[in-house]
Amino acid sequence: MEFAPRMSRFKPSPSQIASARVRDLQAEGRTIIKLTAGEPDFPAPDHAKRAVLDLMERNDIQYTPINGTLAMRQAVQAKFKRDNDLDYALDQIAVGSGAKQVLFNTLMATVSAGDEVIIPGPYWASYPDMVKLAGGTPVFVSAGQNEKFKMRPSELAAAITPQTKWFMFCSPSNPTGAAYSWDELQALADVLLAHPHVHILTDDVYEHLIFDDHKFATLAQVEPRLYDRTVTCNSVSKAFSMTGFRVGYAGGPKDIIAKMSNMQSQSTAGVSALGQAAAVAALNGPQDLLAERAANLQRRRGILFEKLNAAKGLSCDLPDGAMYIFCSCAGAIGKRGPDGRVIETDTDFTMYLLDSVGVAVVQGVAYGLSPYFRASFVAPEEDLIRGGDLIQEACAALV
Ligand code: PLP
Repeated sequence: MEFAPRMSRFKPSPSQIASARVRDLQAEGRTIIKLTAGEPDFPAPDHAKRAVLDLMERNDIQYTPINGTLAMRQAVQAKFKRDNDLDYALDQIAVGSGAKQVLFNTLMATVSAGDEVIIPGPYWASYPDMVKLAGGTPVFVSAGQNEKFKMRPSELAAAITPQTKWFMFCSPSNPTGAAYSWDELQALADVLLAHPHVHILTDDVYEHLIFDDHKFATLAQVEPRLYDRTVTCNSVSKAFSMTGFRVGYAGGPKDIIAKMSNMQSQSTAGVSALGQAAAVAALNGPQDLLAERAANLQRRRGILFEKLNAAKGLSCDLPDGAMYIFCSCAGAIGKRGPDGRVIETDTDFTMYLLDSVGVAVVQGVAYGLSPYFRASFVAPEEDLIRGGDLIQEACAALV
């Protein structure tokens, strides 16, 4: 088969290579502690599950409108108002199969060859591939640990060119957990106000996974003058632990939302009726579980943070949100393991952890910054403790 040239824009992701190695080791009978989870481990809310059963009992499971059921768009409208103080009319709301599809539709509907999309790094590994698939060019602006992984306004300003179509933004971030404060968002907004041709695509999926006294805010809320050129994207996946329901949504300018719908109408069409019923129940239902779950994750964050920071050659800061610690392994680079092999890259380091002590994490290069690794604290507490101890042992054995 001769494949379409667009397929050459994808590279196999380093995290897939690591997952394959985990599977091989498990097949050999090794026990692997996985600190790689990208989804919370809480159950979906009971009222969301009940809504699915009710729908099935009523046999009310037909095709749904491309832009979402009326109940879903009303629930999203109310959510944006309640949580983000954003007003969207019903025809300004898109509903897709997860935030991933909503982001994908936005880019596919708007990006052409020659368009640039600014992506602050470290970034979620899907963003660059989505931009490339749409025919655009990702422009990375990387912020290091010394900047708390947050881009400075001057760095954003320097990256903007006449070709910039979108600024694609995620806070709290995957993989670093960095969350921008209101004032930090305002400073970025001030730059964007000076460049009216740049549109803003915010990925707010980690909105409710936020810790300590950090407060979530989103760009269109902070700077209402950006509202007309911002697509605000979110989903029930991480907030309500409903990743498998596959429901995401966005609010934005009517013309962009309409084109996103056109895109979706010829691919997956309307989102599953079951998923949307569950999402409506979650968005309209009690919200107090969100803070309780964030507090639970915050406790687990503390366990992993202590363990990693006590390991020789590793250094990390407490993330503000999401569910990951992005940890430097600079102190392990150039060292030799007991088998004599030299650790040259963060990929070598993560493979060393996997092979020597059976702990899986993801190498920073997958997210555009080395030498780091991403460790998820969504794991049972005993795995965080044992996994952390094993990482310390492996680091101590490096010479
Ligand atoms: N955006 C970010 C930053 C993510 O980390 C993920 C999932 O890992 C998604 C979007 C996808 O979310 P959804 O399940 O709503 O498609």
